[in-house]
Amino acid sequence: MIWNLGSINVDNFYHLTHLPAPGETIAATRFHQGLGGKGANMSVAAARAAARVAHLGAVGPDGKWAVERLLEYGVDTRHIATVGTATGHANINVDAGGENNIVIFPGANHAISEAMIGAALAEASPGDFLLMQNETCGQAYAAATAKTLGLRFAYAAAPFSAAAVQEVLHYIDLLVLNAVEAAQLVEATGRDITELPIDDVVITLGADGCKWVSNKQGTVERYPAHPVDVVDTTGAGDTFTGYLVAAIDRGLPMDQAIDLGMRAAALMVAREGTADVIPDLKEIQDHDF
Ligand code: ADP
Repeated sequence: MIWNLGSINVDNFYHLTHLPAPGETIAATRFHQGLGGKGANMSVAAARAAARVAHLGAVGPDGKWAVERLLEYGVDTRHIATVGTATGHANINVDAGGENNIVIFPGANHAISEAMIGAALAEASPGDFLLMQNETCGQAYAAATAKTLGLRFAYAAAPFSAAAVQEVLHYIDLLVLNAVEAAQLVEATGRDITELPIDDVVITLGADGCKWVSNKQGTVERYPAHPVDVVDTTGAGDTFTGYLVAAIDRGLPMDQAIDLGMRAAALMVAREGTADVIPDLKEIQDHDF
């Protein structure tokens, strides 16, 4: 079972002829809204990958639909609190060429209490996974509690913050990060990835696939990506991580878990959207890669 302490965002997409200059007001040509946030994306991906997943998080009074959406996707939502602050949201401006700029308001994602996290993790069993990204509060507390309870801890170091990673570094069993974040981590710690006190590190490399650094085994493996026509890379990393952790939780060996994650991520790259379009296992099995 996976306990995912993660963000829940409303993604507001505004399609524009051009990105507004300072002081400029422009009308959007198209608008759509969807469920987002790295946390919610990973919960949906893990549920799509047939794992049992409970989401630990918070929404505001306006966030009922987001919780209902997660529930529809098979996520256990009993530990999502409703707090007084607005649901986290991202306002995403996209111009005709696909260039964007984004404003994020963390809102309820930063109003998750340690009491809520503790109550949820009290239901966990040794060997379960705690999964986290860096878009909520309560991370150090959750990681320390999980370790005390004998959980495995998977961390996606995004959005990257050296201070946030360092706070939980000694608890991490599985670290997932992209190439930019890996370089930032090496710079911040002054240590190579192979010298970190973490059993398994997976570095995603976009169209070049990924690399698995097993410090436990002392091995490094490379995996090429499944080639696809790129439409929109949003959510690919989150889908990869959700699938990867779900597959490991279901007992698959690392090689197979990585392959499943890359198949799911490749399908995501080939389509527009985030949480609402994450493929399920059947779709991946039916696809001719
Ligand atoms: P992030 O979105 O977190 O920066 P990456 O860009 O490294 O992460 O992508 C995560 C995973 O998605 C990659 O490891 C790969 O499996 C898949 N992926 C990303 N871009 C492509 C692409 N152009 N073609 C095929 N797979 C891709």
